[in-house]
Amino acid sequence: MADASSKPAIRECEVAIIGAGSAGLCAAMRLRLAGIDDFLVLEKSGGVGGTWRDNSYPGAACDVPSMFYSFSFEVNTEWSRRYAQQPEILDYLERCADKYGVRDRIRCNTEVRQAGFDEASGRWRIETADGEVVSAGILINGTGQLNRPFIPGIPGHAAFRGTSFHSARWDHEHDLRGGRVGVIGNGASAIQFIPEIASEAAELYIFQRSANWIVPRKDRPYTRFESWLFKRLPVVPWLQRLSIWLKLELRWPAFARPGSLVARLSEWASLRHMRKQVADPALHPALTPDYPLGCKRVLISDDYYPTLNRDSVHLVTDPIGRITADGIVTRDGTERELDTIVFATGFRSTEFLAPMRVRGRAGKSLADAWGDGAEAYLGVTLPGFPNFFMLYGPNTNLGHNSIIFMIERQVEYVMQCIGAIRARCLKYLELRPEVMERWRREARTSLGRTVWATSCQSWYKTADGRITNNWPYSTTTYWLRMRHARLDEYHQVGADTGDAPRTPAGGANEAGLA
Ligand code: NAP
Repeated sequence: MADASSKPAIRECEVAIIGAGSAGLCAAMRLRLAGIDDFLVLEKSGGVGGTWRDNSYPGAACDVPSMFYSFSFEVNTEWSRRYAQQPEILDYLERCADKYGVRDRIRCNTEVRQAGFDEASGRWRIETADGEVVSAGILINGTGQLNRPFIPGIPGHAAFRGTSFHSARWDHEHDLRGGRVGVIGNGASAIQFIPEIASEAAELYIFQRSANWIVPRKDRPYTRFESWLFKRLPVVPWLQRLSIWLKLELRWPAFARPGSLVARLSEWASLRHMRKQVADPALHPALTPDYPLGCKRVLISDDYYPTLNRDSVHLVTDPIGRITADGIVTRDGTERELDTIVFATGFRSTEFLAPMRVRGRAGKSLADAWGDGAEAYLGVTLPGFPNFFMLYGPNTNLGHNSIIFMIERQVEYVMQCIGAIRARCLKYLELRPEVMERWRREARTSLGRTVWATSCQSWYKTADGRITNNWPYSTTTYWLRMRHARLDEYHQVGADTGDAPRTPAGGANEAGLA
């Protein structure tokens, strides 16, 4: 940070966006399309792409059919296969940044440390790690849910003499060939890279804590004829998008209610897939989940189970006890000697925005507001934080469909709010507390009926079981609810004419103002 006595120059802009991943880029592109050019994207890493830049592990690929994994206003007809690999997705996002001319608005290697709202000016003051200050009328957070890798504090980790890294920070310089590799975790990331590295490692140990429901992926390259059709007949990719969306949406009942017919059929298909692909029946019980399908992310793979048939691949289900200088010791006392440990242990998914410190009106801290777990109205905004909008925020993740679809709905919603702020010359828009309260009650009740509320622990919920990450309904419902931003749900505060946030009975309002 800069010396406190030196006053950093303040960069002014109308809109500041944190993060240049899919969400931040989408917002930047929509601003450009709307002719709003005075914006700045603050990106912590060295380039655009977010999760698709971070996750470069071998085999990284989309687990939503790619034709539905591009923005509706920039449909990608170039995908080479049904489930595109990470380099292709990153390339698509890079091309988007170029085509929509947003590169010159992106400030890379710029980590936001804190942001505070000044009620008098109606502006956000954003401070970066290297002491830069940005002042913006509107703040959009695009850091999403899966940007901070989680490495569990397993005793002895520091003493390990080999190499260890997280799957989202893959060490491409490190050679796995001929070595003994331990992979901790068997989630969506692990099942993509394990088949890739199994042929390199001399011995590969998979430390599995819980079994997963895995269904067939049915990936394949597009034929030359299909690729030709996608480029020549724009209706074809659109029909594909529609059919993918519909197929995925029809899976929603499996998540909406535990034990539904769709869920039971999917469980049957998943177990059949496992029994067909895993030759050793002795492994089947360990690979059979003890919780309903959908409670954790349903995984899709054609090559994970066959990898378990290799003599050099070992599934370890005894819990990990500790890490030693030479490997991993499980609780039964067995030590597996390792040269490399890969942590495929997921992300700090419930700590939205952390470690950034965000203070809203009258110094209200976002960390305090979210003491019981993150929440936001329709995943986008909350009272006390005027002109602050989140993309892929709390309760907007899905178990069954494309996040790109959700991000676009959020961006459209935020664009309407920005349009209203501009058209009505407002100082700020702030969600009314009663709207948030109504939503809080509705969301908790609805989420309580879903499969995510059943017995498993997952990255969708906090340690004490609050579901902070997932949207409680179908994507159709989200689309309908996000189509029109209802401005009557907001305090609209103008320079003179504003309907200032009300003071509750008894004195100071919730932000502490008289
Ligand atoms: P994850 O699904 O959270 O999986 C983490 C794994 O680590 C789980 O198997 C978990 O076991 C295990 N684990 C965590 N702490 C542990 C500990 N202390 N000891 C032993 N095992 C431990 O993380 P992820 O695989 O990185 O995937 C996260 C999400 O990213 C996915 O669900 C998906 O939404 C997204 N993703 C998407 C794609 C794609 O589109 N292609 C690819 C990768 C990831 P438990 O199950 O017992 O908790």
